[in-house]
Amino acid sequence: LRSTGKAYYDNEGKALYIAGAVLDITEQKEDELRKNDFIGMVSHELRTPLTSLSAYIQLLQYKVKDNKDSFTDETLNKVSIQLKRMSGMIDGFLNVSVLESGSITLNKSNFDLVELIKSVAEENRVLMPGHFIQVIDEEKINVFADQQKIGNVVNNLISNAAKYSKKDSLIAIRCEIIGNFVQVSIEDEGIGIHKEDQAKLFNRFFRVDSPNTKTIAGFGVGLYICEEIIKKHQGKIWMESEMGKGSTFYFIIPLIGAPTSKENHTGLD
Ligand code: ADP
Repeated sequence: LRSTGKAYYDNEGKALYIAGAVLDITEQKEDELRKNDFIGMVSHELRTPLTSLSAYIQLLQYKVKDNKDSFTDETLNKVSIQLKRMSGMIDGFLNVSVLESGSITLNKSNFDLVELIKSVAEENRVLMPGHFIQVIDEEKINVFADQQKIGNVVNNLISNAAKYSKKDSLIAIRCEIIGNFVQVSIEDEGIGIHKEDQAKLFNRFFRVDSPNTKTIAGFGVGLYICEEIIKKHQGKIWMESEMGKGSTFYFIIPLIGAPTSKENHTGLD
């Protein structure tokens, strides 16, 4: 319990009354907030040197580009891939910290969702080679949403699909308009998810505990972040899965967001 109070006096300095409030902040909650602040701070601090490391690697890649030195080329490529992975993890922690503090805000604009999905798919082809990542519907679909955050969601879902399935398997991404919403689905032929785990999948820090997943790196924050971002867009995220056959993750978001009366967010003009 934490209490605050203030005394009120009349002109002669005589105490009139004392107003007070007792706040029920449990130690546990304070602990969580401190932990959350710490995670946020550390992630933020780690990000800065990582960003300059990535810039130096890019510079080196540019420098050796014409030297035809395939060993240096390949090594720099591998370093750059691992740096991207690390940045992804740190961004994940930073996102959790922002979400927990309740200060997530959307920075909406008009963009082509299919174009965004295609570029995220391409990034994943480079980062996790060996899967057939196919974007089935190629038609342009304009949405009014937070491009970076929806990109994070798509990236989490595609990289999970690749992480939890065998090499050479197919990952099929579909995008279709249903009424005022756009629905995206990411289907894999991976290990699948048990019925009893499915309900907990979007919980923070939840990871399936099985021999199949033990060796796969992760912190169990990706799907939690996805759900928070989609909810913030007034959308929905869900999944269907069959053990040993694969999983399909779906999300829907409104095509044109939720414009206020003063704004024109249709993106159709
Ligand atoms: P992470 O992958 O970092 O553990 P996520 O929040 O992205 O965290 O996923 C939570 C858990 O859900 C994973 O640990 C994994 O067990 C399971 N999971 C997520 N996506 C898939 C998928 N496409 N196929 C099978 N299992 C999955």
